[in-house]
Amino acid sequence: MKHKLCVIGYGGMGGWHVRHALESDVVELAGIYDIKEERQEAARRDGIFAYDSLEAALADESVDIVTVAIPNDQHPEVVIRALAAGKNVICEKPAAITLSEFQTMADAAKRCGKLLTVHQNRRWDVDYLAMQSICDSGEIGKVFNIESRIHGSRGIPSDWRGKKEFGGGMILDWGVHLIDQMLRLYGGRKINQLYCDCTYITNKEVDDGMKLELIFDDGSRGYVEVGTYNFISLPRFYLQAEKGTAIITDWREKCQVVRCDHWHESEVLPVQTAAGLTKTMAPRDEVTTTAYSLERPESDVHDFYRNFCRAIEGKEEQTVKLEEVERVMKIMEACFESDRKKQVLFFDEGL
Ligand code: NAD
Repeated sequence: MKHKLCVIGYGGMGGWHVRHALESDVVELAGIYDIKEERQEAARRDGIFAYDSLEAALADESVDIVTVAIPNDQHPEVVIRALAAGKNVICEKPAAITLSEFQTMADAAKRCGKLLTVHQNRRWDVDYLAMQSICDSGEIGKVFNIESRIHGSRGIPSDWRGKKEFGGGMILDWGVHLIDQMLRLYGGRKINQLYCDCTYITNKEVDDGMKLELIFDDGSRGYVEVGTYNFISLPRFYLQAEKGTAIITDWREKCQVVRCDHWHESEVLPVQTAAGLTKTMAPRDEVTTTAYSLERPESDVHDFYRNFCRAIEGKEEQTVKLEEVERVMKIMEACFESDRKKQVLFFDEGL
C-alpha cells in the first residue's frame, strides 16, 4: 500500500515533489497547502487538492508523510508542527538556518517518535556518484584532493534567496549540497581545519558565492566552491589520488580518468615553453598512463522516497540521517564564522 503524502508549499520545489509523487510507486499525493491563495488556486487548476489551512492538512489522518518545501526560515516551525501532528517529515534543504534550530527539530522527531529526514537529493546526481565510485573503488589509489565547484553567472534568484531573514545566500542554497557530497566522498575522515571566504558581488546582504577549504585529519583536502558570477565555468569535479587524476568538466559529461601505471618508465621528451624546455611539466604518454572514461552511473531520484517509506516501515535505515545533516549544519555555521572573521577555524571534529 502506498504512503499518503501532503506537500506544504506549492512553489518551485513543492511543484517538483508533487510531480514526483504523481509518478511514484511508493507515495500517493493527498494534497498540498500553500500560504498564498494564488498558489492554492494554481494547485486546484492543476487538478491537485489544496487544504484550506495547515491545520486541516495536518489533521488529515490518512496522511503519514509531510514534505515541507517552503522558504528556509520557516522550516523549523512547520516541521515541528507536522511531527507533533504525528506525521513523518521530509524537510527541504537546508533543514534550518542555524544548528540550534535544526537540533530542536531533531529533538522534536525523537520526542514524537516520528521520522524526520532532509531532501539532500543531490546524493543522486550522476556526477557526484561517478566521483563516489572512484573514491570507493580505490582504482586510482587513496584520494588526497577533491575540488567540487558549481558555477553560474546569474547571481542569486531575485526572490527570498537574496534576503538574510529568509535564509538566503549560496552557502545555504547550493553549499549545503556540495558540503554533504564532500563529506560522503571522504567517508570517515574527520575535519581538522576549515576556511571559508564568501563573495558579495551581486548581493550585499547574503553571500552570492563561497569558497570553502576543508583539511581532513590525514592531510587530505576538500575544496567546495559555489559561484554565481562566473561567465566561464571551471570543472564540476577535479580529484587527485595517489595513482591518478579524475575530472568531470561539466555535470552533463562523463568522468575522465588518467591512471598512472608506471612512475618512471619511459624517456621523458621535454616540451617547449615560452621560457625554454621543461621535462617536469612534459605531458604523460600511454606508456606510463591509461586514460579512460567512466560510464555514467545509474541513478533514480525516486529512490529517496522509496528509502524513506521503507524506513517508516522499519525495513531500512533512512539514507539521509540526522547526524549527517547535523554535521553539515555545523560546517555551514563554521563557514559563516570563518567568513565573518576571515580566519581559519581549527577543530578536531567535533567542531
Ligand atoms: P518558492 O519561493 O518557489 O516556493 C515556496 C512556496 O512556499 C511559495 O509558494 C510560498 O507561498 C509557500 N510558503 C511560504 N511560507 C509558507 C508557509 N508557512 N506555509 C505554506 N506555504 C508557504 O521556493 P522553492 O524554490 O520552492 O524553495 C522551497 C524550499 O525548497 C527551500 O527550502 C529551498 O531551499 C528548497 N529547494 C530545494 C531544492 C533541491 O534541489 N533540493 C531545489 C530548490 C529549492
